[in-house]
Amino acid sequence: MGRVAYVNGRFVPHGQAVVHIEDRGYQLADAVYEVWALFGGRMADAAGHFERLERSLSELKIAMPMSRQALTFVLKETVRRNRVREGTVYLQVSRGVAPRDHAFPTAPVRPAVVITVRGLDRAASEARAAKGVTVVTTPENRWGRCDIKTVGLLPNALAKQAAREAGAYEAWFVDDLGFVTEGASSNAWIVDQDGRLRTRDTNANILRGVTRKTLIESMQTEGLMIDERPFTPGDAIAAREAFITGAGSLVLPVIAVDGRPVGDGSVGPVAMRLRNLYIEHAIAGAI
Ligand code: PLP
Repeated sequence: MGRVAYVNGRFVPHGQAVVHIEDRGYQLADAVYEVWALFGGRMADAAGHFERLERSLSELKIAMPMSRQALTFVLKETVRRNRVREGTVYLQVSRGVAPRDHAFPTAPVRPAVVITVRGLDRAASEARAAKGVTVVTTPENRWGRCDIKTVGLLPNALAKQAAREAGAYEAWFVDDLGFVTEGASSNAWIVDQDGRLRTRDTNANILRGVTRKTLIESMQTEGLMIDERPFTPGDAIAAREAFITGAGSLVLPVIAVDGRPVGDGSVGPVAMRLRNLYIEHAIAGAI
């Protein structure tokens, strides 16, 4: 018998095991996992891994997909069906399947569960232990590569959810120095007190927004002053206007930050002019 996986209530041949394309684990890394070592087909350190699993799930506000007892049964059954004595059993629990949106689904979804088992050559493992291993060092950059448009979006999803819970549309990330980097799914801008258009430079750890870039080019042709300089949330509140850019939002005026009005708290003329400018540009250049 070949490898068997457990996927959402079913045992299926490993090669045919699939998850839905809108599984939030697949699209947003909105998922957690655990791995138990198997000795003689039994799960080692079982309680420790269950405790961490429950903690990881609760930090993400994902419900345990089933009781610990039921999960133990399913994990052990997957191990048994794979006839693995020495190896590992892998469990992944995602928030579930929902139309793609950074914030959590508003309708209740069932967490999605995947279990796989892998055999291990214990003798090879012992031989490696006898010889010892080497390591290399690497800069701590987890996750310091926001310039890559990766699906590793869990922090963005949590930020967007926090925004939604606060009754806001978007969340702005603020760095260690107190400057806004970008939004959870957009770039952040202000029209400062001197009327300059300010947005974070792309040497910072942000996504190089295509809307941002195109808008900068359009602004230049319009003779507008652009200042790629960081700003704080306080600068935004004191600014004339603020707005966000992105393929989803286009150019969207921001009227309040952390509950405090930006400028006079109304939609400003510059953001709306830029929105129309961008839309014109986008329509003209669309293929
Ligand atoms: N920053 C982040 C983190 C994003 O996810 C996005 C868009 O999804 C943007 C910025 C804006 O990028 P673009 O204008 O290319 O859509």
